[in-house]
This record gives sequence, structure tokens and C-alpha cells, in this order.
Amino acid sequence: MKQITWPEGKKFAFTVFDDPDAQTVEDGEKVYSFLADLGFRTTKAVWPIRGNGIPSDNGGTCADEDYLQWVLDLKQRGFEIAYHNATSHTSDRAETIRGLEQFEQLFGSNPRSMAFHYNCDENMYWGDHRVSGYRRAVYNAMTLGKNKNRSFGHVEGHEQFWGDQCRERITYVRNFGFSDINTLAACPLMPYHDPARPLVNLWFGCSEGSDAKSFKRVLQTQKRKLIDEAGCCIMYTHFGHGYVQNGKLDPVFCELMTDLSKEAGWFVPVSTILDFLTEQRGTTTLTDRQRSRLETRWLWEKVRVGSN
Ligand SMILES: [Zn+2]
Repeated sequence: MKQITWPEGKKFAFTVFDDPDAQTVEDGEKVYSFLADLGFRTTKAVWPIRGNGIPSDNGGTCADEDYLQWVLDLKQRGFEIAYHNATSHTSDRAETIRGLEQFEQLFGSNPRSMAFHYNCDENMYWGDHRVSGYRRAVYNAMTLGKNKNRSFGHVEGHEQFWGDQCRERITYVRNFGFSDINTLAACPLMPYHDPARPLVNLWFGCSEGSDAKSFKRVLQTQKRKLIDEAGCCIMYTHFGHGYVQNGKLDPVFCELMTDLSKEAGWFVPVSTILDFLTEQRGTTTLTDRQRSRLETRWLWEKVRVGSN
């Protein structure tokens, strides 16, 4: 892979894609004001509406005025606000469109990037449809069939179909997670288009740091690798999962991020990094061979370390 020359003389790139699961305003603000003070401008996904069903999660939504004001303030401070489905439960087409319209109204434009929420059946090309061919059978065996045929957002005519909206409104969708801190080493072609999954414009990969424990472990063990490789880390996490205990921000997380902030990294939102990669190298349309290599790598990691 050709080395990237990062802007502003920076040696590597580091950002975070944070899902809203289990996140409250009070604890979330502790994480974000800390990151902001250190100079990080990362990406926070939201649920724009509350929805009519039973929430799968107790994290806040933009239907709550305090939460909304906080998120608008984060946007003002330079964080990217991204999409995490309309809400935390499955939405039909009408509800998804309501969520997207609400997002546009609240934040002044469509989301640039998104990640699917695990619980939602309107996800696109998700569950066992993330992989193709024989790999689908392997995936279903590993997951005991619980994600078999349960994503319908890309299925035209289905009541949960919204793939046309996704293609029209959203540029980048998160896909495979890897244990390598250098997301670009694991997923060198990102952002990429997959012609077998045409309703998503461009996919991106991420590095696995889904809760405080795994986030810290990745930074502790691999920070040097990221810098030495002049790489790019899109850390995927839930700041609602274990970063604040009894009202206090995890001290090890604080120490690791403070150290990282002193390195010459480019600490900008996910979409800014993906736009930059697109500008520098264009985008790739996957060949069958490239798709097969990427899916196999991810599936193998899933067997080994349980990647998302
Ligand atoms: Zn989620």
C-alpha cells in the first residue's frame, strides 16, 4: 500500500466513530469536553427520533431537548454528527424517512456517515448478508443462525426498505471492524464501493474498540504501530460503555488520550478523513477477488477475536 501523506505535516490520523448506545448527556459530556480540550474532533452518531416502538437501549435520542442541545453544541465545537438509524428499534420505511428528515432539519444537512445499530432489522446488507458465497454459511454457523436473513433495508418492496434514501443521502457507511489499530492496513481500499451491495455509496472499515476496555487495550498495545506506519485509525466505540464510572472519567483512558494528543496526529472527524482519502486516491470499486479477500480477513478475525 502506498503511504499516505497526511495534511498539515501530520504523521498519522486518528479518529473515533462513537455510537449513542447507553449514552447520557451527563456522562457523554464528560468524555466529549475532555476530547475537545485535547484537540480531538471526532464523530458522534445519534438517533434523531424516539420512534413509536420499545427502545432497545437506554441511550439518549434527539427527541430529548437536553440531549439535542448538547449534540448541537458538539457540532458547533467541530465534532461530526452522524446517523445510527432513525432510533434504537427497527423502523419501517416511513419511520426511517421521518428520522432522516428530522436529522436534516436539526443539523442542516444529511448525515455524511453512519453505522447500523445492531438491533435494527432495516439495516442494509447486514447480518449474514455482510459476507458472500460459502462465507455466509460459515458466518451463520458461527453466530448460530441468529443473524440469518434479518436485514431488509436493501430489499426493494419490503416494508423496511430505505436503500434508495441511503444512496441519495449518505456517503459513508461503516462495515467491517478489525483488531489492527491501523484501519487502513486491515482495509486498505477504503472508502470503497461494492457493486454487489449497490445501495451503499461507499463503505469504510474501523478498528475494534467497542467499549472502554477494548479501546484502551488497542491504544496501549498498538499506538506505536499506528504512528510508525503513518496509518489511520477509525476507532469504533460506544462512549456509553464503561468510560465513566460513578461520575468519573476512566483515568487510564484519560492518560492514553493525553499521551496520544501530544503526538503529531491528524485528529479530525471520520468524514473529513474519508474525504481526504478519496481526494488523494479516488475510490475503489471492489472486484470479486478484492471482496473475497476482505470478507475472508474479517471472518477469520471474527473467529479468532470476535470482531464486529
Ligand atoms: Zn448501536
